[in-house]
Amino acid sequence: LIRLFVTQDLAANAQIELAPEQAHYLANVMRLKAGDELLLFNGQDGEWRAGMAQVTRRAAVLTAVALARPQTRGPDLDLVVALVKRARLETIVEKAAELGARRVRLAITERTNAERARVDRLAAIAVEAAEQTGRLDVPAIEPPQKLARLLADWPAERPLMFCDEAGDAPPALAALAGRGGGAWGVLVGPEGGFSAGERVLIRGHAATVPVSLGPRILRADTAAIAALTLWQAALGDLGGP
Ligand code: SAM
Repeated sequence: LIRLFVTQDLAANAQIELAPEQAHYLANVMRLKAGDELLLFNGQDGEWRAGMAQVTRRAAVLTAVALARPQTRGPDLDLVVALVKRARLETIVEKAAELGARRVRLAITERTNAERARVDRLAAIAVEAAEQTGRLDVPAIEPPQKLARLLADWPAERPLMFCDEAGDAPPALAALAGRGGGAWGVLVGPEGGFSAGERVLIRGHAATVPVSLGPRILRADTAAIAALTLWQAALGDLGGP
């Protein structure tokens, strides 16, 4: 069954009028017709089976029929990633959604590969990935912030897994062993890495947990995927030890 993220409230017999582009997708791409069923979720009310009440090329109205899955959310995990080039950043957002990040926070650092990001485009990618991956919420994409500001606002009690390629950090699983799950962050730098000054700033933060992702230097997108997977396996919902 097709899954669709909607913004309207979901309840029994709720009438959901889709946005034109969603109606177009269902009618013309997926060739759904009146009477067909699909799944709706909005990040709050769980996942609902819904029927196509009416559909035209540009409009569709759905009726929510029955709750298929009650609302759940994955771990309270932020991915904090330095702005890298557009294509890689889009990959990072898509993989962060699949790997259960609750938020993606974009950081501007001294060696950032870009100063701006199309947050609306990244949000759309997060929705598509959430629909595909079967999660019941969509990761929020927070607009770019300077690293110093982001760290200044970061709570000391929210551990921040700092992916530090400098080579002197303990292996990730060793660093995470024995720690509690709960609200965490994962920090990944830009293609040019963090500057020495940034490394001092990050390691000076009370929340920082430096980790190594192994003996090879990973590209930012690979590092984000590896770090999220390691965290989820050790402390999250990937079935830890
Ligand atoms: N400074 C790197 C170099 O010497 O080429 C470039 C940075 S790397 C392409 C991008 C980011 O991925 C790093 O800032 C770090 O956060 C993470 N990363 C890559 N490899 C890593 C490793 N082996 N251990 C920990 N973090 C790593």
